[in-house]
Amino acid sequence: MPRPISPDQTAQAAGTAMVIGAGPAGLMAAERLAQAGHAVTIYEGMPSAGRKFLMAGKSGLNITHSEDLETFLSRYGASRERLEPHLRAFGPSEIRQWCAGLGVETFIGSSGRVFPTAMKASPLLRAWLRRLDGLGCTIHYRHYWTGWDETGNAIFKTPTGTVQAKADITVLALGGGSWKRLGSDGKWMQILQAAGIKCNPFKPANCGFDIRWTQHLIDKCAGQPVKAVTLSAGSQTIRGEFVISKSGIEGSAVYAISATLRDQWLQTGSAILTLDLAPDRDLADVTARLAKPRGKNSLGNHLRKSLGLDATKTALLFEVTPRETLNDPAKLARTIKALPLPIARPRPLDEAISTAGGVAWEELDDNFQLIKRPGTYCLGEMVDWEAPTGGYLLSGCLTITF
Ligand SMILES: Cc1cc2nc3c(=O)[nH]c(=O)nc-3n(C[C@H](O)[C@H](O)[C@H](O)COP(=O)(O)OP(=O)(O)OC[C@H]3O[C@@H](n4cnc5c(N)ncnc54)[C@H](O)[C@@H]3O)c2cc1C
Repeated sequence: MPRPISPDQTAQAAGTAMVIGAGPAGLMAAERLAQAGHAVTIYEGMPSAGRKFLMAGKSGLNITHSEDLETFLSRYGASRERLEPHLRAFGPSEIRQWCAGLGVETFIGSSGRVFPTAMKASPLLRAWLRRLDGLGCTIHYRHYWTGWDETGNAIFKTPTGTVQAKADITVLALGGGSWKRLGSDGKWMQILQAAGIKCNPFKPANCGFDIRWTQHLIDKCAGQPVKAVTLSAGSQTIRGEFVISKSGIEGSAVYAISATLRDQWLQTGSAILTLDLAPDRDLADVTARLAKPRGKNSLGNHLRKSLGLDATKTALLFEVTPRETLNDPAKLARTIKALPLPIARPRPLDEAISTAGGVAWEELDDNFQLIKRPGTYCLGEMVDWEAPTGGYLLSGCLTITF
């Protein structure tokens, strides 16, 4: 079981620590280590800290979730067992208290998601960097880690040449493999693999998917939301909304089901997303409503009047349904309740909100320490866990209780 370093352990634990990567996981590690008495130096490849964190704040920084802890823990799927002790020690309530300690109040949105009142990440990041400065942490920007030399020094590429550094503790918090322009380029994977550390290949998580739409659907619906639907893949069903894009589908409900769809696609080369366009009516009700004579109404009008299907849902239905089915109320009702959308492929890795894959759990002890490299820890998104959007990603990065 991981144990936070207690004050009476501080004196003997204190020493030097280097944290490589100044995203949320690295900054939290730096805070913990400095509070435990270590002299902490942070190295960051980019010219400033927390670029992905700031990007996350652009659409409303969802920092954690307020649901009961049992449900919250279940969001981490296969990695729950490994993350649970940490999330129990530093979970949603502690994250909110920690924000408040930085002068950032949070609120619970209607969906249970937790956001800073200002919605943005920048005030939080500024206060956090001030705190780290006050704790004596030094940050070297434009220091890009390229590996270790034969004596175990970390090597950094800087604008003025190569720099080497060593510390008692090294924390790697180098992020996942998406949104490379923000700094997390995933190249650390080759370095760790060369050092004999097993890493699982990156996979897009919380991603959109390509669908081969006709030009007609793109012209009519690109950018339009599809509201109040259920999406099913495998044994998973999600209710929510998503957006039709020029290349396929995006948005919260798609992200929520994306891991299942992605794995199906990776395993079989194809995947089907099934939509229920009228989730509040059962099949018998939909069939009965469609069987009523439609008079002079077009089929689109009939669908709107009898079932409340808007123009976007109707366009989706017409896009994938053969004419013969459209003319048969019983078949049409079944299709409305289970509309199959064939997935062409997941959107490219670099566009994904997060990535699965990374340092394999079996390489880490309960404190995220590399078993083959004692004194070196791997934290945050670079470890092979994944979670849906909803504040679970940042919660998993901030929960550091070495
Ligand atoms: C558009 C978008 C919106 C998001 N919204 C949310 C949200 O609302 N809620 C949520 O929970 N999550 C959200 N996320 C996900 C969340 O931002 C990430 O999961 C989180 O930032 C990962 O933290 P990290 O510290 O592990 O890695 P990162 O934040 O990626 O930080 C890693 C750092 O390491 C540095 N680095 C990488 N390689 C090197 C190297 N070789 N040498 C030196 N430095 C290096 C990088 O420059 C970077 O600063 C969002 C992501 C995106 C892209």
